[in-house]
Amino acid sequence: MKKIAVFPGSFDPITVGHVDIVRRAASLFDKVIVAIGINSQKKYLYSLEERIEKLENVFEENANIFVESYEGLTVKYCQKVGAQFLIRGLRNASDFDYEKQISQMNAIVGNGIETIFLISKPEYSHISSTLVREIIKGKGDASSFLPKEISL
Ligand code: ADP
Repeated sequence: MKKIAVFPGSFDPITVGHVDIVRRAASLFDKVIVAIGINSQKKYLYSLEERIEKLENVFEENANIFVESYEGLTVKYCQKVGAQFLIRGLRNASDFDYEKQISQMNAIVGNGIETIFLISKPEYSHISSTLVREIIKGKGDASSFLPKEISL
């Protein structure tokens, strides 16, 4: 059976920290789906179409990395696409506290879906999409946090 993993997130925008996690996951699984979760209550800086385009540009050379979007529960989406694994990145202890609870609840609701945590590289552990958005909104230079394939 093929090992399929989903890396869910908002990717508003995708950062070099996300890219590193996805590439590392792609060496562990047969297929990695980078899945943009759509939350109708949330206000995004970039539209869904813009975020899909950026992700596709970044991963276009990677044959086992796919970009999709979904609405609703992440575990239901995983079942739909036949993924047995969820990938999350951990930057610090607060990521851990938050993610631990979600992964334990997802394992119950998602019939044993396994969450695999990849620890961020030290050079990326300070990077968050939230802060990158603030820099972009304030017209600062966020280029060192963004993959080179995408423009602002
Ligand atoms: P969310 O909207 O769910 O917070 P994000 O798109 O910000 O989603 O993040 C998706 C995943 O990427 C999460 O597991 C998060 O911990 C991880 N992540 C975000 N930034 C980094 C980083 N700099 N290094 C490693 N993992 C990261």
